[in-house]
Amino acid sequence: MAVRVAINGYGTIGKRVADAVAGQPDMKIVGVTKNRPSFEARRAVELKMPLYGATDKGVDALKKAGFSVAGGLKDLLKESDIVVDCTPEDLGAENLRTYRDHKVKAIFQGGEEHDAIGWSFNANANFRDTLGKDYVRVVSCNTTGLIRTLYPFHAAGAAEDIYAVMIRRATDPNDSKKGPVNAIEPALNLPSHHGPDVASVVHALPIHTMAVKVPTTLMHLHAVVVRLKRAMSDQEVADLWSRQPRVMFVKGAEGFVSTAQIIEWARDQRRPRGDLWETAIWGDGFKVEGKTLYYYQAIHQESDVVPENVDCIRAMLRVTDEGAKSIEVTDKAMGILRPGARVEVPARAP
Ligand code: NAD
Repeated sequence: MAVRVAINGYGTIGKRVADAVAGQPDMKIVGVTKNRPSFEARRAVELKMPLYGATDKGVDALKKAGFSVAGGLKDLLKESDIVVDCTPEDLGAENLRTYRDHKVKAIFQGGEEHDAIGWSFNANANFRDTLGKDYVRVVSCNTTGLIRTLYPFHAAGAAEDIYAVMIRRATDPNDSKKGPVNAIEPALNLPSHHGPDVASVVHALPIHTMAVKVPTTLMHLHAVVVRLKRAMSDQEVADLWSRQPRVMFVKGAEGFVSTAQIIEWARDQRRPRGDLWETAIWGDGFKVEGKTLYYYQAIHQESDVVPENVDCIRAMLRVTDEGAKSIEVTDKAMGILRPGARVEVPARAP
């Protein structure tokens, strides 16, 4: 029987998770919530996703605007095996009490604090340890991207120390309110939250992070330096990454000179909404010098966490005990690139 999934908060992340869940062979959407009438609420109706009000006020506002409303959040929880909370940051932690009262398992997003939820998730790193848990946070877009490319070094016992700078997009493309518009904004609270966030999933990873916000909406870019425990060749590193799920290579030599071309590639692929679920590493923009690895990667903030939410559902409900199996099913249903394509690294002059 298909797992019954509710989405609380049908915004940037919520609508993407809803589409991804609806496309899985073993899951179905039983309803989505909105707290006010909007074009997104209208879209949910067009997609035949039962619409619920997130709050009593939301139910009234939706009805007043002419929407057919199936009920409130509490009604939706009665129909659900699990709820994916995609409400704005810090609201999820408040909603936890409601989910607990209704004995419904719940997934939260990266805007929540790890301590408020108690467990954090990445499909490749800790699927098994997440089996059967009741409340889990899928870590943020940046943290997801960092874990995807750093976890293999940790698993191979090869990471001595990691330094990363996150160059963050100012806001999402659908947001006309936030900035900066003409400035670079450093995260003054140091180290940035990304390092501790990575360590909330991969506990012993020695990572140090800083972050700045820049006036772009397309993607984040990470500049990462890894001090390795042993010298590795460029080819060894490329081979390690190419075996990882949800990691893809782009090449400057093929015109990928910035995040703009990566998003254009996703559009050309006719990905829904031009989404890029994979973490993109520049195959001709990384280098190992002795025991030091330098690389850049790009993160599509609106979509990289989406497949992680789908796998998190399978882990919490024990649909399968194998992370690799879940990742395979999710990625096939969504059209995510499969790992395994060997990347030839040209010999570099010593
Ligand atoms: P969003 O503002 O785009 O969407 C939130 C949705 O929740 C909206 O539809 C809003 O109408 C609705 N909402 C507001 N109040 C509500 C309430 N009381 N109950 C139910 N729904 C309510 O936000 P988002 O970008 O989708 O972010 C959701 C979560 O995902 C946050 O924790 C955020 O930190 C995290 N996240 C966001 C991104 C990103 O780049 N957008 C990436 C990764 C994780």
